[in-house]
Amino acid sequence: MPSAAHKILHDTFGYATFRGEQQAVVEHLAAGGDALVLMPTGGGKSMCYQLPALLRPGTGIVISPLIALMQDQVEALRQLGVKAAYLNSSLAADAAREVLERLRRGDLDILYVAPERLLTSGFLATLEQVQDGPGLALFAIDEAHCVSQWGHDFRPEYRELTVLHERFPAVPRIALTATADAPTRREIVERLALEQARQFVASFDRPNIRYRVTQKANARNQLQSFLETEHPADAGIVYCLSRKKVEETAAWLKEKGWDALPYHAGLDAATRSKNQRRFLREEGVIMVATVAFGMGIDKPNVRFVAHLDLPKSMEGYYQETGRAGRDGLPADAWMTFGLGDVVSMRRLLDSGDAPEERKRLERQKLDALLGFCETTTCRHQAILRYFGEEHPGNCSQCDNCLEPVDTWDGTQAAQMALSCVYRTGQRFGVVHLIDVLLGKSTPQMEKFQHHQLSTFGIGQALSQAQWSGVFRQLVAAGLLTVEMEAYGGLRLTDDARPVLRGEREVWLRRDAEPVKKSNISKAERASRAREAFAGANENPLWLALKAKRTALAKEQGVPPYVIFHDSTLLEILNRRPASLTELGEISGVGQAKLAKYGDAFLGVLEDEANSAG
Ligand code: ADP
Repeated sequence: MPSAAHKILHDTFGYATFRGEQQAVVEHLAAGGDALVLMPTGGGKSMCYQLPALLRPGTGIVISPLIALMQDQVEALRQLGVKAAYLNSSLAADAAREVLERLRRGDLDILYVAPERLLTSGFLATLEQVQDGPGLALFAIDEAHCVSQWGHDFRPEYRELTVLHERFPAVPRIALTATADAPTRREIVERLALEQARQFVASFDRPNIRYRVTQKANARNQLQSFLETEHPADAGIVYCLSRKKVEETAAWLKEKGWDALPYHAGLDAATRSKNQRRFLREEGVIMVATVAFGMGIDKPNVRFVAHLDLPKSMEGYYQETGRAGRDGLPADAWMTFGLGDVVSMRRLLDSGDAPEERKRLERQKLDALLGFCETTTCRHQAILRYFGEEHPGNCSQCDNCLEPVDTWDGTQAAQMALSCVYRTGQRFGVVHLIDVLLGKSTPQMEKFQHHQLSTFGIGQALSQAQWSGVFRQLVAAGLLTVEMEAYGGLRLTDDARPVLRGEREVWLRRDAEPVKKSNISKAERASRAREAFAGANENPLWLALKAKRTALAKEQGVPPYVIFHDSTLLEILNRRPASLTELGEISGVGQAKLAKYGDAFLGVLEDEANSAG
């Protein structure tokens, strides 16, 4: 006998088994306990509250700060035959009244509500009535890290959510977040009064994401070649640091024939929401964006995230790249960076008006990210180590695992570079320093009399590009620091002394030749594409299935993935179900969708069979 929870999982959601901690969380809530769930993006957090909300009597109340997202989430639930609604400022007064009416009648399984709405005295009073009437199944506090004032998603209203615990002590609460660092976790527990809650902590590994960091040569060409060879028709995000660069990059991509759109906080609200809508509802749109874009984007089939500029920290990198591959299918996190990026990022951090202590912390976080960029070992391991988790072994799919990095004894080169910095007075940028090492005669050289230095021309055994790699790595390793007051000039740190005294060796990575466009061989790329979509993109049946999905989505004004996810569509393609019963066995096809769309998709399969036979 399947349990009641399994039955809902299968009949309503169309899934055969729970993932990871889901079952334990569901059982804990069903029994009335409070929970704190820490799971990475794509881990399946929604199931942790949606299923218990259906299992327990009464309405489940979901508090979410992401107004733009509520509509899609509610739509996805309705497609499953769940009675769902939302309440936020985007709703007209009439519509809101109707939702409240349904809530009072007990005609809702799940209600999404914005925190500011929840906290109004009127709504809290309504909840009390509902508790005494049809009942409250649970409170789910999504994006719980919004209580933390240290994150950039801070929402002051989140701090008042303890009112739920005070006024509704009998209703179980579940808080969820994909932000896992220990200080944030402690803050959530304390601020939401979740001391008694059981904590469910999943691994934060994202095994389907392939991380890759390449040295910047010509960023645009590198991006272009990455897109052409690996994602010619996929949806993805390209992150840039500044609004200006977002605009320029989007325009450039467009000119090159890509379906690219810009997104940043400086665009007017109408343009932002139009672009976001196109990204969500159409296939293969590339969003070029600042970090203003992303939170609350739960498009499952984002196939790549590309960084043209450095993120601010490992946390930022993990969060931004984490928007790729929520559906569990292979996805790429690709970044190109060079010393220039370190300089601009430092400038940005130093120019802010944060207190000095905060700035120091931000510099440390940037340094950790630089260490990650230069690491020669498995990137999945490096990321997890940063977040305090062990990784069982090499991932065998990041750039460093696929093509082990060559290292070389750069002690002597480092000594030359460091002493060149020292002898020129610790105030010059890398271009001039390399000119000195290569012994170039330039107007600057004359002006500062640097051709008389002992380091002038001592570095001719290495090329300009190689020296640039040396300096970049010395900065990343913390032997040199970028002085913003000296306009990006380099300075020695205390750690540089042992190197100059010959007491410490320096091993450097050998940068890939810039001509080599990608670190991953063609064969490897092809096999990866095959593994993901089994040549689907050239298969007429796949295109026909997608066209059917797009048409159904358009009719209802919903994103295509709300009808079926890519993974479900792929399974239909590969298994070719011949009946509704067979179609119903496919993961992601629950009873409501089977009844609604079963015939339409079986029809596509039949047409194909007829035209082939
Ligand atoms: P999160 O909110 O943690 O980022 P979601 O709740 O959006 O993750 O789930 C990620 C994806 O995994 C969704 O496409 C969801 O339908 C799917 N999913 C969740 N639970 C299961 C399960 N038990 N079996 C198969 N797919 C699942």
